[in-house]
Amino acid sequence: MANEYFISRFGAKVYKIALDGGMNCPNRTKDKKGGCIFCSSGGSGDFAEKQCGNVKTQIDRAIKRVESKKPQKFIAYFQSYTNTFAPTSYLKQIFFEAIADERICALSVATRPDCLPLDVLQLLGELNEIKPVFVELGLQTANDETATLINRGYKTKVYLDAVKNLKEIGVNVITHVIIGLPTETETNLLNTVKTVNASGSDGIKLQLLHVLKDTPLCNMYEKGQYVPLEKDEYIKLLLLCLKNLRKGMVVHRITGDAPKRLLVAPLWSADKKRVLNDINKAIKENN
Ligand code: SF4
Repeated sequence: MANEYFISRFGAKVYKIALDGGMNCPNRTKDKKGGCIFCSSGGSGDFAEKQCGNVKTQIDRAIKRVESKKPQKFIAYFQSYTNTFAPTSYLKQIFFEAIADERICALSVATRPDCLPLDVLQLLGELNEIKPVFVELGLQTANDETATLINRGYKTKVYLDAVKNLKEIGVNVITHVIIGLPTETETNLLNTVKTVNASGSDGIKLQLLHVLKDTPLCNMYEKGQYVPLEKDEYIKLLLLCLKNLRKGMVVHRITGDAPKRLLVAPLWSADKKRVLNDINKAIKENN
C-alpha cells in the first residue's frame, strides 16, 4: 500500500497536497466533445487548492489545512485537469517552484498519456534528477470500446507508449483505473489489470465510478442508461483487482472521493469511512 511505500522511500509520513496549475484539458475542448463523460467541471481536481497564480501560496495554504495531522513531508500534487497541457516554459516555472520548497519531497503530475511530448518528457526527467517525480496517467480502462463510450479520447496503445517513455527517463508511473464503467464486464476489468501489470506502471489507483452533477454520465443515469455499482459489487470487483495485481505494484487508492455537493450516485460512496472499513474487513476475510 502507498503509505508503507512512502514511509520506506522517504523515511517519514508523507502527505499529498493537491495543487491547481491553472491548466485545462485537451479532451474538454469542443472538437473533443467536452471530455470524459464522468468528468466534473473541476476536471477531477475538485479538492485541489484554488488556482491563485502562485505555487508557493497554494503550498502554504494546503499545508496549513493539514497541519493538525502532523505530516512531516509533502508531495506537491498537480491534480486538476491535464497538468502537462501548457507551454513547457510555464510547466518548467511552476514545477521548479514547487520542488524548490524544502517541505516538498517529491512532485506528482496527473496527466493524459497523449499529452507527453518529447520536451515535456525531457523536463520531467530533469526534475526527476532533483526530486522524485510521479506521473499519474488516467487510463480508466484498457478496453478501447469502453474508452470510446466514455469519450476518453485516445487508444490504449498511447498509454502503453507513454508508460514506456516515462520509465525510460526514470519517472515513477501511477495508473488510474475506474471500476464500474458502463458496459464493462468482470473480464474487461481483469484485462485492464493485466494491461497495467504488463505496462511497467509502478503503481495503481483503483476507484469507483461516481455520477456527478452536470455530466453526460449523469444524463445517462437519469435516463436509466447507466446503473451504478452497489457497495458489495464494488468491493467484490476491487478484491478481484487486488488479487490479480503484479507483485510489487503499489496500490495508491482503493476507493474514490467525490465532492458531496456534486455526487448524484451511488450515495453509499459518500460515507468514505464506512466504505473503507467494509473494504478492509473484506480484505482481511479473504486473506
Ligand atoms: S482527461 Fe481528466 S480532466 Fe480531461 S476530460 Fe478526462 S477526466 Fe476530465
